[in-house]
Amino acid sequence: SPADKGKQKESPRATAMIVIGMAGSGKTTFMQRVNSYLHSREQPAYVLNLDPAVIHLPFDANIDIRDTVDYAEVMKQYNLGPNGGIMTALNLFTTKFDQVLSHVENRANEVDYVLLDTPGQIEIFTWSASGSIITDALASALPTVVVYIIDTPRTTAPATFMSNMLYACSILYKTRLPFLLVFNKTDVQPHDFALDWMRDFEAFQEALLERRQTHGEEDGPAYMDSLMNSMSLVLDEFYKHLRAVGVSAMTGEGMEELFDAVQEAREEYEKDY
Ligand code: GDP
Ligand code: MG
Repeated sequence: SPADKGKQKESPRATAMIVIGMAGSGKTTFMQRVNSYLHSREQPAYVLNLDPAVIHLPFDANIDIRDTVDYAEVMKQYNLGPNGGIMTALNLFTTKFDQVLSHVENRANEVDYVLLDTPGQIEIFTWSASGSIITDALASALPTVVVYIIDTPRTTAPATFMSNMLYACSILYKTRLPFLLVFNKTDVQPHDFALDWMRDFEAFQEALLERRQTHGEEDGPAYMDSLMNSMSLVLDEFYKHLRAVGVSAMTGEGMEELFDAVQEAREEYEKDY
């Protein structure tokens, strides 16, 4: 039947990687690193920049939102602040996304990866209609993986770690796409503590307790402890569905492991989506 035929359709060669993360986590540096790593392996990627406010882009983008919309002009014209300007620029770009997608689709059997950089402030992409439209359109055209970049040195405090993981969890449930946690900046801070906390619920609770004993109430009222204990149980379930790797976008450490995890995530997409 036609329906069966649709299902058997071979997926395109390229895997799309949507790079998401808090401002300053290293998304753009990661894009630059991945792009040059792929070049050195003669596997050039098709690259999209969706950050209208980036001043210096350290990689060549095949499609750059800045070529279509001038975010400073948008701010002036609509009388907006910087965040409103970035959001409106992304909305304007999204109205043309069908054209962008057809460019991507045309190249999807010639390249191994399609890379997408997103605006500095995470919520502009993750909690906007435009972000969902772009993510859904891409994910219906080719295998798509969400790559969540974490600023490892800034997430060593248990409470911060947990907020970051809860945020990642909310994005997983919103996009429902194969998800990869990337602990970045391992040149400054190795990510083994994070893997320990994700593997071993009791190790995380011990860290919470220890932190409380050394910092006391400065970290918040005591009821936070039991709240955090309950939330870490929720996260325990979340961790089972994810892959986590450590990289340094600065030095290039961890690239092989990263691409092994991307491959696994792609297999998950092909199985489930
Ligand atoms: P974005 O806002 O997520 O796009 O973050 P950027 O790529 O602009 O990086 C923010 C800052 O973190 C910059 O100063 C980068 O040089 C720095 N950075 C990014 N990746 C790494 C890394 O792996 N190691 C170190 N030490 N610094 C990094
Ligand atoms: Mg950036």
